[in-house]
Amino acid sequence: MMSGFREKILRINLTTKKVIEEKLDLNAAQEFLGGSGLAAHYYWQYIKSYNEIPEPLSTENPLIFMTGILTGLPSYCTARANFCSRSPLTTYWGEANIGGKIGPWLKFAGYDGIIIVGKSENPVYISINDSNIEIRSAEELWGKGTYDTLERIREEIGNKKAEVVCIGPAGENLVKYSCIMTHGGRAAGRTGMGAIMGSKNLKGIAVYGTNNKFDLPDEFMLLSKDAYNSVKEDYAVEVFSEFGTSGYVDVALDHYGDMPIRNWSKGILENGGNLSGVTMAETILTGKSTCYRCPIACGREIQIKKGKFKTNKTDGPEFETLASMGSNLGITDLEAVVFANIKANDIGIDTISTGATIGVFFDLVEKGLIPKEDLPKNIQSKFGDVDSLLKLIELIGNREGIGDILAEGSKSLAEKYNRLDLAPQVAGLEAPFHDPRAFSGLAVMYVTSPRGACHLNGDAYFVQQGMIFPDIGVDNLPDDPSENEGVVKPLVNLQSYRQIYNSTGICQFFNPSASKLARLISIASGKNISAKDLLLIGDRIFGLKRILNMKLGWSPNLEFLPKVMLQKLEGPTNGKVPDVKVQLDLWYKYRNYNRKTGIPIKSELKRLNLENYL
Ligand code: SF4
Repeated sequence: MMSGFREKILRINLTTKKVIEEKLDLNAAQEFLGGSGLAAHYYWQYIKSYNEIPEPLSTENPLIFMTGILTGLPSYCTARANFCSRSPLTTYWGEANIGGKIGPWLKFAGYDGIIIVGKSENPVYISINDSNIEIRSAEELWGKGTYDTLERIREEIGNKKAEVVCIGPAGENLVKYSCIMTHGGRAAGRTGMGAIMGSKNLKGIAVYGTNNKFDLPDEFMLLSKDAYNSVKEDYAVEVFSEFGTSGYVDVALDHYGDMPIRNWSKGILENGGNLSGVTMAETILTGKSTCYRCPIACGREIQIKKGKFKTNKTDGPEFETLASMGSNLGITDLEAVVFANIKANDIGIDTISTGATIGVFFDLVEKGLIPKEDLPKNIQSKFGDVDSLLKLIELIGNREGIGDILAEGSKSLAEKYNRLDLAPQVAGLEAPFHDPRAFSGLAVMYVTSPRGACHLNGDAYFVQQGMIFPDIGVDNLPDDPSENEGVVKPLVNLQSYRQIYNSTGICQFFNPSASKLARLISIASGKNISAKDLLLIGDRIFGLKRILNMKLGWSPNLEFLPKVMLQKLEGPTNGKVPDVKVQLDLWYKYRNYNRKTGIPIKSELKRLNLENYL
């Protein structure tokens, strides 16, 4: 008995409007622990039975929403769940992790996941109220922004406590990096899952469940408290609680050089402190927001009371957005970035990919590489210009003019103007705003992550700052970039360990020891699991996504960083650059993957119990 799961999923066909309740694949649930790992299993199974690889925006491509074995359980930071599919942005495996309450609420309604296929003839949203499932018209909602849509759906179903996710105009217009939004400015941001919803004429999903009880012994809560007590005074937890992720801005800019500037091409940003969490706290902060059962509460609530960017109380930007739409674009006006963040959230585009793509655009314009006739009128299209940023967000969301080109992502944009080297991406996914020149191990993490350059599949910036997991061999990493051996081996373990996070539904800001986490998972799964076992399961999940990616067309040729991310910079990184090739050779060695084919060697497949997935 796995008390962490409800042991049921829903299959919804939007073409036929058929809803089927199905037993969870218990064997796979044990092997992958839910979330993105289990979703990868279901996706693999789907393409095997379908006998073809579906195009990302086709009717046949399934959108899988999957909770983890810990999602919604009465522990701490158990809010997370994943939207997964073949990404329209990269064409490879896509997954986007979401917090808030939608994952827990689905569990309380009695389901572990939803697999959605087909395409509705007209716009619809799905309403799940315990076992009562309805597919309702969204004709009136189509074209509306996400903030409005979230509230209207709640009103329509007459339940203010329901949790809702939805897309904005960008998802409807199939912008390749459109996201899925929920309350509190939280998003399933990456890899274009919003466009998958748009391609199915699916505007939103509302969920409400009444059963929050799980069959767990008292020991589970005691161990949870012990795990939380062991981290609550950690420096990172205190900073995120006090200042949100924006609390990292000052140290990232001034100490590490870990906040890319002007399309990754500069090492120093004048007035960068204007973007910091401290400035936010002193000027516009009104409160904190949090996900289900999370005492850290890293979300920010802000209000700009007067001036050009005046807003009602709303959600504030995270570190990634302060970097993508701030430092990366040479903008240091905090209120402008706050405003741009709200606009992007409302239109429904991933702020990381949006800021990165606009950064490439400004760079191309600055270098004189875009013909005049392609440039939008009435804006300057240059670094530091807030009006250009705000206008481009609109153009992208509506796919108007140059926005139609930018809506395809930075890789496509840079290729169009023959400067692929300027696009900070791997396999088509724009890199998050942590710099491999500051933390060398990010290089190998970015080029090998299952969804393209990603910060949730190996956060080298945390462990190279000193966060340790001794019981899984991640301990005191050297910060010397020439020390590849000492960096890559533990990072392979970290990369696998983060698969456990993306699968079980725990937030990556909650980091007790692996042994403490293993105890919680043991109780929820009914199976004795050690820290070492977690590594094996993480290796298995990583391996499955790798095999899946190969089926979707991934090749080791994609595993490089573009030149723009490897230029030597002045400032805190002081000319350091990682050696990606050396790191990659070591990575293949420690992963036991074939360097040419990119997949696990035979003995490794056997160790991971993945032989049947080839
Ligand atoms: S730390 Fe932040 S993102 Fe993580 S669960 Fe808590 S509020 Fe959500």
